[in-house]
Amino acid sequence: MAEDAVKRAAEMLLSGARMVREPCPYCGGVRVMRAGHAFCSSCGAEPEAGRAAPPADPGSPEERLSALAARLASERDEGARRAILAEISAITARISGSSGS
Ligand SMILES: [Zn+2]
Repeated sequence: MAEDAVKRAAEMLLSGARMVREPCPYCGGVRVMRAGHAFCSSCGAEPEAGRAAPPADPGSPEERLSALAARLASERDEGARRAILAEISAITARISGSSGS
């Protein structure tokens, strides 16, 4: 489960990391930040690895899906993969649900 993520977050805090004010964009969990690198203690997502760009701008659902698929392909962390998959299914559900208008 997310035990590893919690353990890793705790280790980061012990070694000088600090809590991030904004919750995880994927699961709303608590994140810790060290050297510009945020790590979610709940789902293990690391959206700010490299650049500070959480999926803030929505874009079109199709754009988001391809971006998420690309992330999923390069993501090795189980928790993060599950968060991405959850987001993908949420988007596809929204697309198929709002095809009326
Ligand atoms: Zn998270």
